[in-house]
Amino acid sequence: MAKVVMIYGQPGSGKGTQAYLLEAVRGFFHFDTGMHLEQVVRDPANKNNKKIQHERKLFDSGILLTPSWVLGIVQKKAGELAAAGSDLVFSGSPRTLFEAFGDSKNQGLIAFLKKAYGRKNMHFFVLRVSEKTSIWRNSHRLVCSTCGAPVLYHKNRTQHCPFCASPLRQRSLDKPDIIRKRLREYEERTAPILSKLKNQGFKINYLNGEPAPYKVFKNVLKKLESRN
Ligand SMILES: [Zn+2]
Repeated sequence: MAKVVMIYGQPGSGKGTQAYLLEAVRGFFHFDTGMHLEQVVRDPANKNNKKIQHERKLFDSGILLTPSWVLGIVQKKAGELAAAGSDLVFSGSPRTLFEAFGDSKNQGLIAFLKKAYGRKNMHFFVLRVSEKTSIWRNSHRLVCSTCGAPVLYHKNRTQHCPFCASPLRQRSLDKPDIIRKRLREYEERTAPILSKLKNQGFKINYLNGEPAPYKVFKNVLKKLESRN
């Protein structure tokens, strides 16, 4: 049976890396909501779609897109992937209670995925790291300027992306004072989502995110396989 994996964790907890590993090693589809929305609003095939062009204007001016529209677009894509039998991994999303659980008029992503994949095939992880680790990792993290691959800084680092050889850059999101703010935002935003998932009877797997990514990955796989 196809699986859905949702990985939460503060910035620098390694959730993106674990999602990347599930994609690279296990063939999961890494569902990046922001990237998908950008594709939809920029797709030339949607040039004459008024609603989408309206959202494109919001996107281009950095304004939040209409939440109910986003929910619909995300579910449409998730539905296509489910029909194709793809395993999905989300890292850090759904980001809001509305995206996750919807409201009286809109079905949330969790309910949608429950129907498409079955609740026993949905797995939730939270990667835990200390604030110190989080800040260190974020302030030392580089990303490829072309393909976006994350590269952890180390002393003898190569100056170029190991995948496509583009120059690496530091993300502006990763400056220390911005990281502290993002840590607080993460707690405020994520805690209510996790507690609602627990209320719905989902098990949340808390994993130590401090070890090297390949060690964390072993623990992720162990949890995924133990419930088959
Ligand atoms: Zn690259």
